[in-house]
Amino acid sequence: MDREVLTLSGLRAKLAENPKFLYEYIEFIYDVIDAVEGKVKAFITLRSKDDVLREADRVVDKLIEGRAGRLAGALLAVKDNIVTKGLRTTCASKILSDFIPPYNATVVDRILREDAIIIGKTNMDEFAMGSTTENSAFFPTRNPWDLSRVPGGSSGGSAAAVSALEATAALGTDTGGSVRAPAAFTATVGLKPTYGLVSRYGLIAYASSMDQVGPIGRTVTDVSIILDVISGRDVKDATSTHSRGGYREATVEPFKVLHPKLRVAVIEELVVGGVEKPVKHSFLRTLRKLESNGIDVIWLNMPISRYSLPAYYIIAMAEASSNLARYDGIRYGLHESVEGRPWYEVYTNVRTRGFGKEVKHRILLGSFVLSAGYYDEYYLRASKVRKIVRDSLLAILREHDAVISPTMPVLPPKLGERIADPLKLYAIDINTVLANLAGVPAISIPSDIVNDLPVAVQLMGNEFDEVRLVALARVVEGIINLAPLVPPLVRRYV
Ligand code: GLN
Repeated sequence: MDREVLTLSGLRAKLAENPKFLYEYIEFIYDVIDAVEGKVKAFITLRSKDDVLREADRVVDKLIEGRAGRLAGALLAVKDNIVTKGLRTTCASKILSDFIPPYNATVVDRILREDAIIIGKTNMDEFAMGSTTENSAFFPTRNPWDLSRVPGGSSGGSAAAVSALEATAALGTDTGGSVRAPAAFTATVGLKPTYGLVSRYGLIAYASSMDQVGPIGRTVTDVSIILDVISGRDVKDATSTHSRGGYREATVEPFKVLHPKLRVAVIEELVVGGVEKPVKHSFLRTLRKLESNGIDVIWLNMPISRYSLPAYYIIAMAEASSNLARYDGIRYGLHESVEGRPWYEVYTNVRTRGFGKEVKHRILLGSFVLSAGYYDEYYLRASKVRKIVRDSLLAILREHDAVISPTMPVLPPKLGERIADPLKLYAIDINTVLANLAGVPAISIPSDIVNDLPVAVQLMGNEFDEVRLVALARVVEGIINLAPLVPPLVRRYV
C-alpha cells in the first residue's frame, strides 16, 4: 500500500479523489489483520470484514455526493472501556465479559457522525489499571516492534493496532498516562486532552477526576483531526466544556498560533533518577536538535514532583474503590441469582470471581486510604500534593510554551518483566501522571528508535490550549523528522 495513505490525513486526500479507494483500503487493513493479529492480539472484539464493507457502502455514497464527514472512511479502533451500542464492551474484565451496552459514549456518537467506521474494540489493562496491558483478564497484547515486549498500557490494544497498521487511528483513555505510555512504546502519537475538553459520558469510570479520552494516531495532524471531532461541551457530562476547535488547522500552519521564539522547559526531576541510560541519552540528543533549530531549552526544578507518583496512586485507587462499587452482580455484568440468599453473599461471590488481582488490590487500598482513621494521612495529603503540583506546573507553563520530558523513563519492557512487582510497574508512570494530577494536556510523539525500539518525548501544555500544544508538537515532529515509523513486522505491506 502506498505510504501516503497510511495516515488519516493521507487517506482523506486519497478518498476525496477516489471514493471507491475505500474498498481497496479495507481489503488492505484486513489482509494485515489476517497476517499479524494472531501475534499482536490488539483486539478483544474485531468486527467482520463484511460488516465493515456494508458500512463502507454508505460512506462511499456520501463521499461521492460530497457530504461525507471529517472522518469519512477512517477505520478506528476503540478501547474497550468506551461503550458502543450493540457492540460488546468488556473493560478487559470478566465482570463485564458479556456486556452489550444499550447506548453509545458521546465520543463514539461523535466519530460515527463524522463517518468513521469502528473496526473493533481493543485490549487494555482491566478497568484501565496498568501500564503494560498485561492486566487484561483475557490475554496480553504484544508490541508490534518486538513481540516479546509489552506495548504499554492501559490503551495497549489501541496503540498496537495503529502501530501494526490494523487501524487508521484509535481512541484510548488516559487517567495517569494510558494514552501516552502505549503511544511511546509503539512509535505512535498519543494525546491526552485537558480534563473537561472531551466528554466522559460512556467512558467506564476508573478515577473520574482524571479520566480523559484521547486519540492515538500516526502523526500529530492525525490526532488533531480526531480531537476536533471528539472535543466540546456535552450536556451528559457536567465536567465537559466548550472547545475552541481549530486543532488540525494549527498543525498545518503552526506559526500562525506560535511566537517564532519558542521556549520549552525541562523539569530536571523528570530526567534524572529513574530514567534508563539509553532513553536519557536519546532525550538529550533530541534537546540538542531542538536547540540547533532555534528553540530555547530551559532547565528548572520542581521539587514537589517527587510526590506526584504516590499522590496519583492514592487518589486513583480511592476513586476506583468508589467507582467499582457498582459491580454488584445484579444490575449488569456477571450475574448470580439472589433467590433465597443474602445480598452480600451474591455481591462477594460475583466480585471475587469477576475482578482480577490488580483490581482487587486497588479496591482494597483505595478503601483503606479513604477509611475514617487514615483519610487525613493519605487521601487528604495526596489532595494537597495535587494542588501544589497543579500550581507549580501552571506557573512554569505561564513562562514557557511547554514542558518537555521523556514520555516513558524506560524502553518497552519484556512481558513479565515488571508485572510481578507493583511498585516497579507504577514507577514507569513517573512522567505521565503529572498532567493528570494538574488536568493539563499532554502529547507523546516518537523521537527516536534505540536498539530497534521506540523512544518518545512528551510535551505538556497549558490547560485548554491544545491549539498551541499541537502546533508546537507539529514543529517538534518536523524537527525530529523520523522516517515513517512502520514496525518490521508489517514493513512488507507498505
Ligand atoms: N498506569 C496508571 C495506572 O495504572 C495509568 C492508567 C491509566 O491512565 N488508565 O493507574
